[in-house]
Amino acid sequence: MTDIQELKWLLPLPELLKQLGLEAHAKRSALCPLHEDTKPSFSIFQTTHGWRYKCHAACGGGDEITLLEKLLGLPRGEAIRHYASMAFGPGAWGFNDRHPMPRIPTYGSAITDASAEKPPAKKVDLPEDLHTGDEHEMRTLASLRKVSFWAVGAMSQLGTLRFGTVCGEPSWIVLDASLRSAEARRLDGKLYPQTAHLGERKVHTLRGSSKSWPVGLVLQREVGNQFKRILLVEGSGDLVAGYHFALGRKGEWLPAALLGASISRLHPEALELLRSKPVRIMPHCDSAGEQASVKWTQELLRAGCHGDLASLQGLRKKDGSPLKDLNDATELHPEDADEFAQLLS
Ligand SMILES: [Zn+2]
Repeated sequence: MTDIQELKWLLPLPELLKQLGLEAHAKRSALCPLHEDTKPSFSIFQTTHGWRYKCHAACGGGDEITLLEKLLGLPRGEAIRHYASMAFGPGAWGFNDRHPMPRIPTYGSAITDASAEKPPAKKVDLPEDLHTGDEHEMRTLASLRKVSFWAVGAMSQLGTLRFGTVCGEPSWIVLDASLRSAEARRLDGKLYPQTAHLGERKVHTLRGSSKSWPVGLVLQREVGNQFKRILLVEGSGDLVAGYHFALGRKGEWLPAALLGASISRLHPEALELLRSKPVRIMPHCDSAGEQASVKWTQELLRAGCHGDLASLQGLRKKDGSPLKDLNDATELHPEDADEFAQLLS
């Protein structure tokens, strides 16, 4: 991914418009800020590659940078520099902003400002301080899971990742817009301590979660429809890895994760969604994963879904040890790179 893509996760279009004092235009239907508009011709929307705007009159459409080019009459190179200075704050990265701007985004406001839709009724018990994550939290998670900041940013924007305090510990949480299921892990990578009812554990399932729901299946707004295929993995770690490896690849994979190999029944509404697209199951390389893939395949077939199975078996990490799951592929042996790429082709 390019640095520009990373900038876009830092300062998405709705937030850019807000910083420019144009928040009134950060909607699905608004007056166009680029021409003398009398009826709403301007619209912003999310795609699998980030935000876009479109003016249905004569201004055309584009991304954050195109908007700055048109709005400020800048050549592209200048517009990029200007955008970077806005994203990182004046003076950062050697960019000097001629028009000082207030510092930065919160993804939360970016998501809610642009969305006229109401979030669904709360189903899982979410922490009080649930939030979209600042740059530091997202970078911490990217480094903990050895994935790109881009992957973490994508999850955050698409609504499959949040942060908050769980069992007293700063945590990252996978969930989706359905709020049917959510799982937390500590941001420092350690185990949650033992309680009266629960032992030490690396993951904590939030109360009210329905394990039959593949987390990640329902995204903010209708952006999920743009994905052509679904990559069904096991656990929150592989969900993050799924975004790292699969999102944006040819085929437009949408990663979704069942939170446990023991799950055998899938939620009827999940099956409904899964029926609309080819599903590729990528289980863990252990006996539980093998059994899970058999059960999930049966369940999907019974529901009339179609798809296939991709096994990580036989692939190695850099140190020569076998891959156990998709997240291990962040340390893939270079000689196995082609074979691995086939699994997501
Ligand atoms: Zn226009």
